[in-house]
Amino acid sequence: MTDATSDCLFCRILRGEIPAKKVYEDEYVFAFEDINPQAPTHVLVVPKKHFAGLKEAGAGDAELIGRCQLAAAQIARDRNIEQGYRTVLNVGPGAGQSVFHLHVHLLGGRHLSWPPG
Ligand code: 5GP
Ligand code: ZN
Repeated sequence: MTDATSDCLFCRILRGEIPAKKVYEDEYVFAFEDINPQAPTHVLVVPKKHFAGLKEAGAGDAELIGRCQLAAAQIARDRNIEQGYRTVLNVGPGAGQSVFHLHVHLLGGRHLSWPPG
């Protein structure tokens, strides 16, 4: 039997099938270092429940998405990067989404220009 979670890279990380450098974990979310960091801090925060991305999320996922954002804020606080950081949700391939398990990027520790590319 296969389902959306069996081949999902981030579900596999959550199950411990693929190693990752854990940054934070609670009942709802898991955070780990991005394998290809784009800033001194580049952490991915994922809900433990699988859903593909923001456009697949429903009203029932609102709290979980908020928890991902708040976990990112806590990590930023812990790392003293509150002078300026960014949380990013890439939505769809045209915006660079390559893993279809919702994830919040936390980027910081350097100047971040605006607008993003
Ligand atoms: P997206 O492009 O979907 O917004 O973000 C996916 C992110 O996952 C990318 O920043 C990429 O570097 C990261 N990534 C891809 N494969 C792995 C992996 O096996 N381990 C970790 N820790 N990060 C990964
Ligand atoms: Zn998944």
